[in-house]
Formats: sequence, structure tokens, C-alpha cells
Amino acid sequence: MLIIFGLRVFYRAIGQGTFHCQRCGGDRPYRHRAGRRWFTLFFIPVIPLAHTGEHVQCEPCGTCYRMAVLNLPTTAQMQAAIPAATRAASITMLRAGGGGSAAARRRAIDGIKGAGLAGYDETDLDADLTASAILGEPGQDLAGTLNRLAIQLEVPAREWFLAEAVRIGLADGPLSEEERQAAREVAAQLGMTQAQARGVISMTEEGAAA
Ligand SMILES: [Zn+2]
Repeated sequence: MLIIFGLRVFYRAIGQGTFHCQRCGGDRPYRHRAGRRWFTLFFIPVIPLAHTGEHVQCEPCGTCYRMAVLNLPTTAQMQAAIPAATRAASITMLRAGGGGSAAARRRAIDGIKGAGLAGYDETDLDADLTASAILGEPGQDLAGTLNRLAIQLEVPAREWFLAEAVRIGLADGPLSEEERQAAREVAAQLGMTQAQARGVISMTEEGAAA
């Protein structure tokens, strides 16, 4: 009797989601797959051998990518980046200032509306200020939302964004140490150096005092 044996890699899906497929040129569903080599007998896997690594496969076109492709934002995330980042940075500044100043709250609400969330109001602001996560949604922390925005922004636009956040802190008077620290954190997550951050913060302070 002829015994047919061999080695073959089998994949199983260990996760799924939506990502930006560079081949399709758009947001597509993907499967996160892990591979393992098996010893096969009559084409049937019988003995599991070494793991062969993980990858992301686009479901519609079948293209496989390294896991790092998931670090790139989807088109939907790119579009949501400005409102999400404006909201996260505004809430961070307001929290640093105690969240009670009417002038600072007004400034924050106007900024968030202007960034694309037209229906944002006092109730939304209170909910955001008391939520345990910065935006009340998992994965929507300050760092994540600002990092996604920073990918899209040139240096002058980052400085403009930081200045807008600083103006929330300045709406009720000079920056407190907590507000200054919050502004530095926003700058760092936008990928700005400490020197760039200091320059933008002091220029915005001078503008407010003039
Ligand atoms: Zn694809």
C-alpha cells in the first residue's frame, strides 16, 4: 500500500475587522489569520508542527499583508479624525482647567461644532467630561485620536490645532500648570517636539494677552 504524507501550512481566522486595503483602494473587511505547519497523512493534517506567523488578508481581493497594515487608518477613520481629535483635545484641556468655566466650555463647544460635530451641545460636553474614557468609547483615547490626525497634518496645521486647544485653556484667564501640561500632552501626541510646543503655547498666550 502506498502511504502519502507531506507537510502543509493551514490557516485559521483568529479575528476580523475593517482595514484600508491598498490593492482595493478602500475600506474592506479583513481576516486576521494565524498559520501552522502540519504533518499530513493522505492529505489530512495529523500532527501540528511550528507556527508560521500571522497576517491580515483582505476578504474581497485575497491580498495578504503584514500585521502592521492595521496601524494605518481606514478612510472612515481619516474622515472622523478631525472631529474626534478636536473633541479629545478640547475635553483634555477642559478637564485640566476643572471643566467649570462657562467661557472655556463655550469655546470648546464652538470648536467641536466647527470640526464637524454640528449637533454637539452642553449635554454632550458634560457626558464627555464625566466619562471614564476620554470619549466614552474604547480605543478613542487622546493618544489614539491625535496620532490618527497627525498622520494627515503638515506641521503648520498641527500648530494651528494646538493653538486652538490652548485657546480653550486661555478662555478663562492665564493657563494653569495643569492646562499647560495638557497642552504639552496634546502637542506630544501630534508628534511635535517640546520646543515647537513651547513656541506655539507662548505665541498663543501673547495673542490672548494683546
Ligand atoms: Zn483588497
